[in-house]
Amino acid sequence: MSRRFTGDRLLVATHNAGKLEEMRALFAPYGVSVVGAAEMGLAEPAETESTFIGNARIKAHAAVKATGLPALADDSGIEIDALGGAPGVYTADWAETPNGRDFVMAMERTHRELEAINAPHPRHARFCCTLVLAWPDGHDEVFPGVMPGRVVWPMRGTNGHGYDPIFIPAGHDITFAEMETAQKNRISHRADAVAKLVKGCFG
Ligand code: IMP
Repeated sequence: MSRRFTGDRLLVATHNAGKLEEMRALFAPYGVSVVGAAEMGLAEPAETESTFIGNARIKAHAAVKATGLPALADDSGIEIDALGGAPGVYTADWAETPNGRDFVMAMERTHRELEAINAPHPRHARFCCTLVLAWPDGHDEVFPGVMPGRVVWPMRGTNGHGYDPIFIPAGHDITFAEMETAQKNRISHRADAVAKLVKGCFG
């Protein structure tokens, strides 16, 4: 049985504006207001683990330590089968430049690498999200979420964030970036994990 969260404001340990917006929308129906790490002036810890759960734990526990409050962290990424699961936990790293993150560059890299090996279509992939809710006594709860689909080229759509323009979720024929926010938020890997978290800790 998961530990229950009893507050009405939840600290979400992310500096990623796109993720934070999604979290706000995903928690709104449950009457939970979300506060971001940047608003709390928190530093971004180094993500030194090689798994989603390891990095989500680092972020959640660092935020708890800095604030003394329970904190939720998300570590996520896209796994592309033909690339052996890459970029996976390194999804954000593929966008890293000296001047910040460039996701067009990152999406171009995925396309280049798939073309280089002549990967067959459909190019199966999945978005993964691991949520960790941590408390000041060191306890934490872990909730994984997934959305299978395929990657396509060229990029399509302007909604969302990150790799949304090249990902078509299973059962659909438009990319996440072509979907209305509400539609993505009904089916996404993050929505899947949030639903499990709410059931376990807020129910
Ligand atoms: P991290 O969890 O902060 O290490 O970064 C995960 C990266 O995965 C993000 O920077 C995004 O590029 C990508 N990502 C995670 N979730 C999504 C999503 O819902 N849409 C598009 N890209 C995503």
